[in-house]
Amino acid sequence: RQLNIALCGLGRYANVLKTGLAASQHCRLAGIVTGTPAKAAEWKRAYNIPDKNSYTYQTFDQISANPAIDLVYITLPNGLHKEYVLRAAKAGKHVIVEKPMAFTEKDCREMIEACQKAGVQLAVGYRLHYDPHHIELKRLGQGKVFGQVRLIEASLGYRLEGISPDDWHLKKALAGGGPLMNLGVYCVQAGRYTLGEEPSAVTAQFGPVTLPQLFKEVEENITWQLYFPSGAVCTSSSTSNCNIDRFFATADEGFFELEPALSYGPFKGRTSQAAFNFPVVNQQAAQLDDIAAHILAKTPLPAHISGEEGRKDMRVIEAIYQAARTGQKVTLA
Ligand code: NAD
Repeated sequence: RQLNIALCGLGRYANVLKTGLAASQHCRLAGIVTGTPAKAAEWKRAYNIPDKNSYTYQTFDQISANPAIDLVYITLPNGLHKEYVLRAAKAGKHVIVEKPMAFTEKDCREMIEACQKAGVQLAVGYRLHYDPHHIELKRLGQGKVFGQVRLIEASLGYRLEGISPDDWHLKKALAGGGPLMNLGVYCVQAGRYTLGEEPSAVTAQFGPVTLPQLFKEVEENITWQLYFPSGAVCTSSSTSNCNIDRFFATADEGFFELEPALSYGPFKGRTSQAAFNFPVVNQQAAQLDDIAAHILAKTPLPAHISGEEGRKDMRVIEAIYQAARTGQKVTLA
C-alpha cells in the first residue's frame, strides 16, 4: 500500500515536492491544504484530488475525520510550522515539517511531545540525508577515513534579487530570522553529521547590511563557528547577498569536499585521493519513500530525520543567535 500525503501550503517547495511524490514508490499525493481557491482548483484537476481531500486553513482540522489521508507534509512559512504540527497531531495524522522545524528548542520539544501523545510520527524534511554524497560525508568523517577531522567549512547563501520587501522571508514573525534559519540549518547539520558530535560552544558574528531597504527585521549575513568536543571546528556563513554553496573538511591525513554541496544537486565532490562518483538522486523521492516505509511498517523513523534531530539543530541555532547578539562565546551543556 502507499502512504497518502496531503501537502499543506502550496508554494515553491510544495512544487518541488510534487515531483518527488510523483517519483516515489510508496507515497501518493492524496490531498491539499491551501488558502487560495484558484490553486485548489488547479491542483485538484492536475492530481485527480477529490473535493473531500481538499482543505483550507480554516477547515484543516476536519482532516481528522478523513481516513484517505495518512500524513500531512507542512510546507508553510517557518512561523506556522509549530501551529500546524500541533494541529496535524491533534487530527491524528503523521507529519513531516519543513526546516527549520520551529524557532526555539522549547517549541521543538512541544511539537515532539504532542506527536508522541497523539501516537503519530514526526519527521523534519532533511532531504540531504538521502543524497549519496552526504551519506559519504558521514562515512568519511564519522569513520575517520582520513583520520580526525580538524576543520570544516560549510556555507550556503543566495543573492536575493527581485524579492518583495513584503516577502515572508524578511519578516521576523514568519521567518524567525534571516539566512541562518532558512539556509544555515544545512551548514549546522553538515557539521554535526560529518563529525557525529554535538558542538560544545559557539561564537558568531552578524555581517554587514548592504540592502537596508529589505533587511529591517532579520539578518542579511551571519558567520559562526561551532567548537566540538573532539577539537574539530566548523565555520560557516549564511548570506542573502551573495551565492555560496560549499563544504570542505580537512582531516589529519587528507581532505574531502563538495561544491555545490547543500542545494538539490547535482553535487560534485572529491577527496584528497579521488573524485566522488555517486549517482544523482531525487532527494525528495528518496526521503519520502524512506519515511513511508517506516510509517507503513509502524517502525520508528531513523534518528537523522526525526523531530529530535530538528530539536538538536534548533538548540545550536538559538546559541548562534545568542552569540552574535552578545558577542560572547556561548557554551552548550
Ligand atoms: P513559499 O512562500 O513559496 O510558500 C509558502 C506557502 O504558504 C504559500 O503557498 C503561501 O500562500 C502559504 N501561506 C499560508 N499562510 C501564509 C502566510 N500567513 N504568509 C505567507 N504565506 C502563507 O515558501 P517556500 O519557499 O515554499 O517555503 C515553505 C517552507 O519550505 C519553509 O519552511 C522553507 O524553509 C521550506 N523550504 C524547504 C526547502 C528544502 O529544500 N527542504 C526548500 C525551500 C523551502
